[in-house]
Amino acid sequence: MAFYKSTRLDNLRYEIRGPVYEKALELESQGYKILKLNIGNPAPFGFDAPDEIIHDMIVNIRDAQGYADSRGLFAARKAVMHYTQSIGIPGVAIEDVFIGNGVSELILLTMQALLDDEDEVLVPSPDYPLWTTSVALAGGKPVHYICDEESDWNPDIQDIERKITRRTKAIVLINPNNPTGAVYSKDVLARIARIAEENQLILFADEIYDKILYDGAVHHPMGTLATDTLCLTFGGLSKNYRAAGFRGGWLILSGAKQRAKSYIEGLNLLASLRLCGNVPAQFAIQTALGGYQSIHDLVAPTGRLYKQMQLTYDRITAIPGITCVKPKGALYLFPKLDLKRFDLAGDEQFIYDLLVKQRVLLVPGTGFNYPKNDHFRIVTLPPVEQLNQAIDRIEGFLSEHDTE
Ligand code: PLP
Repeated sequence: MAFYKSTRLDNLRYEIRGPVYEKALELESQGYKILKLNIGNPAPFGFDAPDEIIHDMIVNIRDAQGYADSRGLFAARKAVMHYTQSIGIPGVAIEDVFIGNGVSELILLTMQALLDDEDEVLVPSPDYPLWTTSVALAGGKPVHYICDEESDWNPDIQDIERKITRRTKAIVLINPNNPTGAVYSKDVLARIARIAEENQLILFADEIYDKILYDGAVHHPMGTLATDTLCLTFGGLSKNYRAAGFRGGWLILSGAKQRAKSYIEGLNLLASLRLCGNVPAQFAIQTALGGYQSIHDLVAPTGRLYKQMQLTYDRITAIPGITCVKPKGALYLFPKLDLKRFDLAGDEQFIYDLLVKQRVLLVPGTGFNYPKNDHFRIVTLPPVEQLNQAIDRIEGFLSEHDTE
């Protein structure tokens, strides 16, 4: 008898490491060199974590052998609490901070603790796909609200309002956004906060890219704007501190915590069932948040991240048949292909054929739960030479498919 996966996994996907990624690994095993622009992992592209983070992990490794408290080491949680004070999120105490194995684990845990079958959560489209998946895995129903490319990928507020039902429990916001690079204005965020408050919905604010901002963009933490409902803010070491492999992330509870006693009990139960987050990484959190913020140098106009983003944007938008909203934050571009112009069936064929013929790996837009099949995501982490090489190949591939 064959063994079958749970039906809960039906229709769940994670295209960033999906079948096309597997094909790329297969090609690599055959000796082909693939330019991998599919994943927001800074280290392989020559970005090092700040030295003091590495130093702290090494120095503390002996003390990191045992399990820690399920919510995390006191010093790490205290550092996150101080961070909330410095960015203006009111009323966060040490017990409102949970440390996890990256934001990923905390997203899964917070949805598992919240949802009953058929409960609905409003998730952006496009989204970072773990959000959709974690809602579905917890038995809930992800309901996508549109982020509108025509309005710089801002959330369509009317669409959010239209999609609220009596089963809606929460709204997810990713700001700065992966994959679009949008950074939301205070006005947009305040309007969403009011909708959540009026409808008694929890806000999930994924702010893992809150320091990766370009061209003077300002990040407004949702926790500073939503005080009359529960707000969960997510952040971590993976992007701002280029330490994705250490698996260190945090969750901050703010706002109407007194009305969320049962939910917080659930969070504590699930946190304790998985014992604790990776302890060595927790020793780095205080240093990361309190140390020199070298990410600011990288995103300044003279910095490597900025230059790579600008080059990718200039070159991608110079390709006939491609348009793109310029990112204000994060590590990606989410360009649009004019499918009337190219003889391509859609994003998936584009990504697959580009990989096989040109050895460049991207992610199709539909992998981010975007309803139209005419977008793709490109990562801006590689050094300029690699980006130029990849974009030369994309350009060459598309010119062969250009019908004009
Ligand atoms: N949230 C967003 C928007 C991301 O882009 C990512 C990783 O790419 C994550 C969460 C997961 O981050 P972590 O490495 O902390 O699990």
